[in-house]
Amino acid sequence: MKHFIQSSRVKRKVLIVDDEIINRELLRAMLESEYEVHEAENGKEAYDILIEEEAAFSLILLDLVMPVMDGLTLLRRCKAHESLKSIPIIVMTSQTNAELESIRIGAADFIPKPYPMPDVILARCNRIVELNEDRIIISYTEKDKLTGLYSKEYFFEYLSQLPADLLRHMDAVAINLDGFRFVTELYGRREGNALLQKAAGKIADVIVGSQGIACRREPSTFCVFRQHIEDYEARLNIINKQLTSDPKAHGVRLRAGICSRADEGVPPEIRFDRAKTACDRLRNNYSRCSEWYSEELHRREMLHKRLIADVNVAIQERHLKVYYQPKYRFEDGKPVLSSAEALIRWQHPTIGFISPGEFIPLFEQNGLINLVDYYVWLTAAQDTRRWRDELGFVLPVSVNVSRADIFDNALEQKLLGVLRDNGLSASDIMLEITESAYSDNADRLLGTVSNLRQKGFKIEMDDFGSGYSSLNMLTDLPIDVLKLDMQFTRNMLRDRKSLRLVELIMDIANFMDVPVVAEGVETKEQLDMLLKMGCLVFQGYYFSPPVPAPKFEELLKKAFS
Ligand code: C2E
Ligand code: CA
Ligand code: CA
Repeated sequence: MKHFIQSSRVKRKVLIVDDEIINRELLRAMLESEYEVHEAENGKEAYDILIEEEAAFSLILLDLVMPVMDGLTLLRRCKAHESLKSIPIIVMTSQTNAELESIRIGAADFIPKPYPMPDVILARCNRIVELNEDRIIISYTEKDKLTGLYSKEYFFEYLSQLPADLLRHMDAVAINLDGFRFVTELYGRREGNALLQKAAGKIADVIVGSQGIACRREPSTFCVFRQHIEDYEARLNIINKQLTSDPKAHGVRLRAGICSRADEGVPPEIRFDRAKTACDRLRNNYSRCSEWYSEELHRREMLHKRLIADVNVAIQERHLKVYYQPKYRFEDGKPVLSSAEALIRWQHPTIGFISPGEFIPLFEQNGLINLVDYYVWLTAAQDTRRWRDELGFVLPVSVNVSRADIFDNALEQKLLGVLRDNGLSASDIMLEITESAYSDNADRLLGTVSNLRQKGFKIEMDDFGSGYSSLNMLTDLPIDVLKLDMQFTRNMLRDRKSLRLVELIMDIANFMDVPVVAEGVETKEQLDMLLKMGCLVFQGYYFSPPVPAPKFEELLKKAFS
């Protein structure tokens, strides 16, 4: 830590305010070896510079008698200004009576004119700067009581005082303690706290050592700022092994995101946000416990920000397009177009085509999915209505209902409103709900889904087999169709076990007395095998990819002419 602090003593900025050029030059010569020197020739000019650069100065050397704005006025103004008041000011004067007045207003020290020896001036400046920085740091509670690591206020204040070129080459590491809440819930607060202390101690020893500093940022997250190393993974593995040797901490782990190097001017807070972004990528990934914030991740993050900012315009300007992928039912050995799934795409005016795999999970995290899904429901209903008007019949269309929609209290209202406004009935729109939503919050979901069914909607359980529904839960589920997850179709012909799984799922569906739609059918072999197992409805590239509305309309016309 000591070494770490010393290495941070690089050039700070000092502002010399004096109307006489000769004085400014003298002082500059004395200070230049250790400070970045700026000059102003009166109080007003100084004030403008200070405001422009905010609190970037570590010290002001101030003459009292100057034209335009004198020293005492500037001193008063600085002390009344929220972000300037903490900059120490040394007053330079030959009038002894002014010294007292300036100290009273808030000057940190004074230097008499004519100037004493250069060494004396430099030493005095250094002392004032150091005192002031210590004062700022001490004004924050230094340590986190529970873990003994630094508090986050202290930590970030400390980092803000490190020079930019040192900051750039250090690693910002965001560390999360997974499983902490679980331990607290199972064994109580004391055990949870003991675990935190132990983890913090290991972080300090194994990850930080003498090469940086660490703080506790949130109850179970930590920040480390240290000299660059490569072997975080190995170090974390060591700690995780030690932590989980305690049976109560079974399943606990530390995972870390690391942001090494950054462009100059990227503040520490942002680097830790980036480290956290990398760390979050490991949330459900147990194959490793560290992740670097890469260029690729940076690009993705920027893209995501952009998508979030653009979604409203995309809806208004119809850059979001609803495609339709037909589903075929086999009747007398022949495929008959029986329904379709509405799938969204984004035709972004500058980025180009964006697949839903990129933005749907993002919007599910931040709630924007409600907006997007509503737009899809509305568009699908409008298209369906138009086709009914033109062709004289309705082919039911399924829309995706995301997990987050289930928690929207207005869900039913919205769906019914969309139907009403387009003169459709609930049997014209089917709802696909992913299986994992069922296991997430069973009660809420079951209630919502039962209500929707009562209103006449048909419910399809999407991605069946990818979630973890228990068998006894399945039997009570209010659903009308199972959609076999694409993975099963893909793997079915690759090995015996996968094939057996599909047979099992068909048995379950039989038992529940619901039909199965097989997703992702790409080959004739897959189709034949699924038919043999009793599956009757299919969706996949073998028949058709998702297509834009006009193209789907052609399919409709062809199928029913
Ligand atoms: P999903 O609901 O399981 O949709 C099926 C996905 O499989 C679609 O991908 C479809 O284009 C793709 N697919 C269809 N047939 C085949 C095939 O034979 N082979 C392969 N490899 N893929 C096939 P897409 O359109 O990229 O959508 C991906 C996921 O994004 C969807 O998975 C769904 O979870 C989500 N999504 C798409 N549109 C919406 C929407 O409007 N709302 C919500 N909430 N989610 C949507
Ligand atoms: Ca779907
Ligand atoms: Ca699916």
